[in-house]
Amino acid sequence: MSLEPRRRSLPVAGVVHPVRPASSPTAQDASRLRKRLLRSMGQCLNDFQMIESGDRILCAVSGGKDSYVMHDLLVDLQRRAPIDFELVAVNVDQGHPNFPREVLTNYMRKEGHAFRMVHEDTYSIVKEKVPAGKTTCSLCSRLRRGILYRIAREMGCGKIALGHHRDDVVTTLMLNLVFSGQLKAMPPKLVNDQGDVVVIRPLAYAAEDTIAALARARAYPIIPCELCSTQPNHQRRLIGELLAELEQRQPDVRANMLAALRNVRPSHLLDTGLWQKLGLEVATGLSDATVSDAD
Ligand code: SF4
Repeated sequence: MSLEPRRRSLPVAGVVHPVRPASSPTAQDASRLRKRLLRSMGQCLNDFQMIESGDRILCAVSGGKDSYVMHDLLVDLQRRAPIDFELVAVNVDQGHPNFPREVLTNYMRKEGHAFRMVHEDTYSIVKEKVPAGKTTCSLCSRLRRGILYRIAREMGCGKIALGHHRDDVVTTLMLNLVFSGQLKAMPPKLVNDQGDVVVIRPLAYAAEDTIAALARARAYPIIPCELCSTQPNHQRRLIGELLAELEQRQPDVRANMLAALRNVRPSHLLDTGLWQKLGLEVATGLSDATVSDAD
């Protein structure tokens, strides 16, 4: 296995291929955080076989901390990995007022990353369809996802990497439990309906505070979204507050919730469809303690 850094170039129209600077910053804390995140990302990639030899992966970068970190770590991994895969960062400029297009373009050029920016005005659609005071994120992100699928196909990318992390995963789990009556979180790996693009979430095991700390240490040029900051999502905020409150009493609550998602006991759930799929006719392994706990 060679750990030698290797450059990749993609012969794709519209992608900027600038020259990589000879040296990059290596602050001690950034290096420590990077190692921790690389470990958790590596585990997630392995667990779900997210990257294979020959993959061409579209990394969705929004200008937020999570996607900066995800892209940065994937580039790092690409240099060390014993398999060949290609990465191209893509940003969708959705036409939000004052979106500073040059910030991401300049950053990607300075860092020497393959990058493409796509302009599609979904902002006008969102403003037209979503009543004033309602949350815009759901429609906005659905429209963006559709664009990313199209761009991935155009560029021959079979995978799209998204920057969702552990805290997004457990927040979604809670949202679905509390508001939708469903026991589901976010899939770490998902094939789209057409079956031609796979969405992967390499940071699904990574804690948001570690990501935020690395983002601060690396001083990425963060682009905030003005549209959503004026449109609070009450359900998401409530769950965030609940988790923060729980964390005051049980500091590992998010880590434990993630652990729970990786340690499911189907026989202790009440989904008859799941029982049928797994051929469970009767639950096994009920200890006296479990039974008395339930009394
Ligand atoms: S944060 Fe902004 S860009 Fe992101 S989904 Fe919400 S409205 Fe859209």
